[in-house]
Amino acid sequence: EYVMFNGEIVERKAAAVDIEDRGYQFGDGIYEVIRIYNGLMFTAEEHLQRLDESAASIGIEIPYAREDLQIKLESLIAHNGVRFGTVYLQFTRGNAPRKHPFPVGAAPTFVAYTREAGRPEEKLQSGVKTILIEDIRWLRCDIKSLNLLGNLLANQKAAEAGCDEAIQHRDGKVTEGSHSNVSIVKGGTVITHPANNYILNGISRRVMLEICRKEGIPVEERVFSVAELEAADEVFLTGTTIEVMPVIEHDGRTVGNGVPGAVTRKLQQEFRTEIEKQCGA
Ligand code: PMP
Repeated sequence: EYVMFNGEIVERKAAAVDIEDRGYQFGDGIYEVIRIYNGLMFTAEEHLQRLDESAASIGIEIPYAREDLQIKLESLIAHNGVRFGTVYLQFTRGNAPRKHPFPVGAAPTFVAYTREAGRPEEKLQSGVKTILIEDIRWLRCDIKSLNLLGNLLANQKAAEAGCDEAIQHRDGKVTEGSHSNVSIVKGGTVITHPANNYILNGISRRVMLEICRKEGIPVEERVFSVAELEAADEVFLTGTTIEVMPVIEHDGRTVGNGVPGAVTRKLQQEFRTEIEKQCGA
């Protein structure tokens, strides 16, 4: 099994990170997950641009041009022969004696690895269950940082409740899932939280919004309430590994008539078309 360590393809066991790496000690770093279909990365440019934005917002300098990084990831995917799966990549602020201030002259640590995974076909067909939970995270959820404790605690609650995702709210306003964006459909209009500091601006969210515009599906990027969530005709999640995922039950209550709704179905279908266009699969 091969991984990428500081830009080189090496055996997994040769990739050793120091115990004082700032990613390990502080979660001081950023990451991306990119879906691979048919051996090709989907929306790679958007993910690598977001990585650059995350890096810039916490002052980590990525030592590669975006195109070079893309080529490196492509070489890893080809090396591992991954046809369907994901590539995970992360940069930390590097390895330095444990002190809070940013170390001077530490080089970022870069790891990337691939994983084989199919599409979650059954769940995409049947839909998933969610619970509501308070969003206790920090106020820069737009940065895709390694600090995921708030997200983990939320997701663990969902898992304990036998659900797939926790839908988070701040003061009764829905923000996002623990690892997905949340949208509702009411009277044919898709409503989703605006891209600001309270959510990660998901790449799948953006693909979904673009589809809405192309297909003439009305969209409102605005804050919506828990009450609106509970009264929605349809609820769906978006994310790199889940694409457009219907929610059929929320907090023990049926969403709509308990099966994936027509708008969600349409978005799923058009999302597939986008994947086929880019990756031919
Ligand atoms: N919000 C959070 C908190 C996430 O972790 C993710 C998954 N990366 C998303 C939204 C969805 O983003 P994307 O569509 O880029 O995977």
